[in-house]
Amino acid sequence: MFEYNDEFWNLARDTEEECASRFRLIDKTFEKNQIRVLEAFIKNRVSERHLFGTTGYGYDDTGRATIDKVYADVMGCESALVRHNFVSGTHTLTVCLFGILRPGDKLVCVTGKPYDSLEKVIGIGGYKNGSLADFGVRYSQVDFLNGDLDYEEISKECQDAKLVYIQRSRGYSSRRSLSVTEAEEIIRKIKKINKEIIIMIDNCYCEFVQEREPAMADLIIGSLIKNPGGGIARTGGYIVGKRNLVALCANRLTAPGIGAEVGCSLEQNREILLGLFMAPQAVANALKTAIFCASLFEKLGFSVNPGSSDSRVDIVQRIKLGDKEKMRTFCVGVQAASPIDSFVKPEEWDMPGYQEKIIMSSGSFTMGATIESSADGPMREPYAVYYQGGLNFPSGKLCVMEAAWRLIRPGSSDQGE
Ligand SMILES: *Cc1c(COP(=O)(O)O)cnc(C)c1O
Repeated sequence: MFEYNDEFWNLARDTEEECASRFRLIDKTFEKNQIRVLEAFIKNRVSERHLFGTTGYGYDDTGRATIDKVYADVMGCESALVRHNFVSGTHTLTVCLFGILRPGDKLVCVTGKPYDSLEKVIGIGGYKNGSLADFGVRYSQVDFLNGDLDYEEISKECQDAKLVYIQRSRGYSSRRSLSVTEAEEIIRKIKKINKEIIIMIDNCYCEFVQEREPAMADLIIGSLIKNPGGGIARTGGYIVGKRNLVALCANRLTAPGIGAEVGCSLEQNREILLGLFMAPQAVANALKTAIFCASLFEKLGFSVNPGSSDSRVDIVQRIKLGDKEKMRTFCVGVQAASPIDSFVKPEEWDMPGYQEKIIMSSGSFTMGATIESSADGPMREPYAVYYQGGLNFPSGKLCVMEAAWRLIRPGSSDQGE
């Protein structure tokens, strides 16, 4: 492995050297965020007993309750619901939507079509079978207009909205991701229309990229096998926000009247806490890897987004490859340089919840974790792959290099070994 010619090693070295000043800024953010996390641990007196789990009903699980408090403080919110019982980011978002919305209410997504797996949850395209549409929740969506938020349309659609949905990260789309400041600007404008409108933010891939989170929102949601799990949490999700709203979500996750007070933590508390503690570092390494990736692929003539010198608000790097075979080659390369299942060749498949076939490399310790070095994308025009993660920069860099090498190496018609 990693037997590249001198030219390619030199290209990688030059690329990394050019990134040095960006990397220093990332380290500053890392330090600020680490302080934010550490302070929350200290304030909430996290103790050894909080690391152990419970079984059965999990009454009086002080570890679970303390994790909720630590998360609320880290995110700058009143209340939190952090559970390994959330099976994915999609499930966490779904619990939130069903926790808040009632028949006849209107949901407005102001950042274009939400992430692919939310389509059936909302019932876009007429899907019933327990979707929000099946329960009589109305939906409308405001698309980006020339790359920007369409405030005129947003203001029209939000007049009778109950819940506004803001997705910060781009998902599998070409639109840009939204910074904390941009999210706050949307929130201010919507609250001006009607301050009763509840605003939820899909914060997936954005935690710890900037020095603060969009705490001005009523609810913020994310996945623990992305940024805030630090590559250590085995599964789960979080909902943070206003106390009464988080309580409604807890009632939906468990049962009305039971809420957040039941639910054993098994052996997950230690890893959720350790993961959160490590998350600022994992995110810093993922960001360095993403910037290296952008820079290297730019040099090789590919269209990348964000560009190597653009500011970043999430850990996702989009690389437009132009055809299916190149997507496969990229993903095979990332997988081949990964610590787990390096010998496996990823292929696209009908992943539950998605319309197109998805190809996904994930040579990770936690299955499907995308804070670990990973690449994925839907097999559709314009055949763009999304690279993200990298628990440490040297290994992330090698994943990116291996993917690039297989695309450009002399005589490459490589379809994997
Ligand atoms: C990853 C992601 C989700 C949820 O994904 P899961 O695979 O269900 O965890 C939702 N929204 C965005 C923007 C995402 O990146």
